[in-house]
Amino acid sequence: MAKISINEELKKFKFIDSHMHLGVAANTLYYKYSDDRVIEIQKKFNVETTICSQTIGIMGDLDAQIEEIIKNQKKFGDFIYWQLVYIAEQSEKSLDIIEKYRNKINFAGIKIYSVGSELGLDDKKYYPLWEYAMANDIVVAAHTWSPYTENPKQFYSNPLLLESVLKDFTNLKVLLVHSGGKADFYDEVIELVRKHDTLYMDFSGDCFYPPVFKKVLDRVGKGKSLFGTDMPMMDIRYHLSNVIAADISDEDKKDIFYNNAARLFKLDKVY
Ligand SMILES: [Zn+2]
Repeated sequence: MAKISINEELKKFKFIDSHMHLGVAANTLYYKYSDDRVIEIQKKFNVETTICSQTIGIMGDLDAQIEEIIKNQKKFGDFIYWQLVYIAEQSEKSLDIIEKYRNKINFAGIKIYSVGSELGLDDKKYYPLWEYAMANDIVVAAHTWSPYTENPKQFYSNPLLLESVLKDFTNLKVLLVHSGGKADFYDEVIELVRKHDTLYMDFSGDCFYPPVFKKVLDRVGKGKSLFGTDMPMMDIRYHLSNVIAADISDEDKKDIFYNNAARLFKLDKVY
């Protein structure tokens, strides 16, 4: 393979980060964490728009989530689009908040973390969410992970559990956050996405690799892979260089870095 200069390559592209967080407990890797610092790093790497969920919401405090979003929207403006969290144990409250705020903030869909709720993605407690999301054409970003893991809690987030859900909710748009998480599981996740038009793959995580992007293009087609970082849990440079090193055209990289997210989240910015 010819030697490539990552810095030179990066100048060719614009970026939408389809997956990042702000807030309490997002500071695992930071000596001095602050929301400003995370956004500063994103801007340094030419991220133009970022799709964010507040970790405090994922931890179950839905009111604090909204307070943080309103505060941060004033501060960071249109740089950030927000995902509102659905907590299955607080179904009614979650949907009330989503309904009340989705037209008041830069709204980019709903986020779920089924591992935290210890409920499988096919659990009936998610059905009110699927109904609401499908009726309103809202994208649900679902944390997904491989069942081939030492951590049995991740079984709750096996994306293959969505197979039965999609029989009942055929037009439901789901972004598979982390694309199932582990390299030895990607073939099965790609096969799932191939069968369902409304599924998308977010390539944030800690063990993906450049050839996976060509694999998705060859087996599923264009428009399915999204660039995401999971900042500040992860380092953006890892995710940027994985796409840069992929054996695909610059047009396809443009789509992964930017256009696929712009289309899915209806940001009206395709270039
Ligand atoms: Zn995340």
